[in-house]
Amino acid sequence: MKKGSDIKLSSVERSIIENAIRDIKDFPKEGIIFKDITTLLGDKEAYAVLMNHLYQRYKEYNLDYIAGIDARGFIFGAALAQMLHVGFVPIRKKGKLPYTTISEKYVLEYGVDEIEVHIDAFKPNARVLLIDDLIATGGTANAAAKLIKQTGAECIEACFVLGLTFLEGIKKLQEQTDVYSLIEVN
Ligand code: AMP
Repeated sequence: MKKGSDIKLSSVERSIIENAIRDIKDFPKEGIIFKDITTLLGDKEAYAVLMNHLYQRYKEYNLDYIAGIDARGFIFGAALAQMLHVGFVPIRKKGKLPYTTISEKYVLEYGVDEIEVHIDAFKPNARVLLIDDLIATGGTANAAAKLIKQTGAECIEACFVLGLTFLEGIKKLQEQTDVYSLIEVN
């Protein structure tokens, strides 16, 4: 039997997902090619291929929670948590969570930001999968993985639909946790 970590995208699945993502040049500023996943979400076949792949990969990981990064990580993360029958925890931009939080500052591909999580979001030693749509410099995901550890939980893996490998964010994040990006963009 295949281990979850051996389950990778087939070339057919890859092209269905890749073709459903739209590139927007110079958004939100010049020089950035923005990977627009709204077209993927609006394509029921591509969205189902993606979610089914994530389910097949992670169903044997014995996860307790999926932690999604604000905001596009919520879409995939919440859907996957429901499929896997585990909890979902939002890691939010500063100032959005109502209870006591811990926070981390980070540098983004286009700016500086801060994210936070409720201090009691995970039960002790929980097994957590971190998820977002895309990893670029890795600043956001590194901060998110640190937050998960600070709460006393374990970040088992960080998963991204897209990984921009030329920015080396994946390498940096691998110092903290396993990383799986479905589609790597060079
Ligand atoms: P980073 O912290 O540099 O890895 O940036 C990752 C975060 O910024 C993710 O939450 C992405 O949604 C967003 N992001 C960064 N670069 C892009 C891009 N080129 N296209 C779409 N989203 C991006």
